[in-house]
Amino acid sequence: MGVVSDSVQILEELKTRALVCTQCALAETRTQVVFGVGDPRARLMFVGEAPGQNEDLQGEPFVGAAGKLLDTLLGEIGMQRSEVYIANVLKCRPPGNRDPRPDEIESCKGYLREQIRLISPEVVMTLGNFATKLLLNTETGITRLRGRPHNWWLGAMLVPTFHPAAALRGGDRVTGQMREDFALVRSLLEAPPQVAEPTEPDLEAAQMELFG
Ligand code: SF4
Repeated sequence: MGVVSDSVQILEELKTRALVCTQCALAETRTQVVFGVGDPRARLMFVGEAPGQNEDLQGEPFVGAAGKLLDTLLGEIGMQRSEVYIANVLKCRPPGNRDPRPDEIESCKGYLREQIRLISPEVVMTLGNFATKLLLNTETGITRLRGRPHNWWLGAMLVPTFHPAAALRGGDRVTGQMREDFALVRSLLEAPPQVAEPTEPDLEAAQMELFG
């Protein structure tokens, strides 16, 4: 068995474990675990915050209106949901869609770390402020971080953008900015830049601490 099929197999085993996970208190209130969906060899991976009500019921990330917008924006750069991988930082829904708590992130982050390591995407697109701040280990807001690629973990580029739900609330201006970010992703996948913004050593170390 080759390295790629090995990693696909290990991802499946990870999913099997996650689906019955009780490592944090969210196990008591979730309907089902939302592990992630898509191509286990995807070049592009999306990371959102946590499942919402529809996702909790259906077991799939980014369904409903926000998911439709994500599919539309992907379609505009010539891609389909089946070609990418979509996951959240937390695999279970926080009650009432409250923000994830630090202890929940600590309990759950190993799943996301392994998903990223096994899928090994070239580009990771964070959806929304929460996932962006966590993965870039920064307090800087999404508005200042989006619109450009960031050197990230394991040689991947990270492109932050808004959460599709924010675009649904924010109208054409936010959707237009998301469109620009998706176009940037397309260009990165077509022709990775030779000269990228240097990663600050302390930022890289912090990311390794988060995911190492
Ligand atoms: S949120 Fe993560 S750590 Fe908590 S029960 Fe769900 S899968 Fe396990």
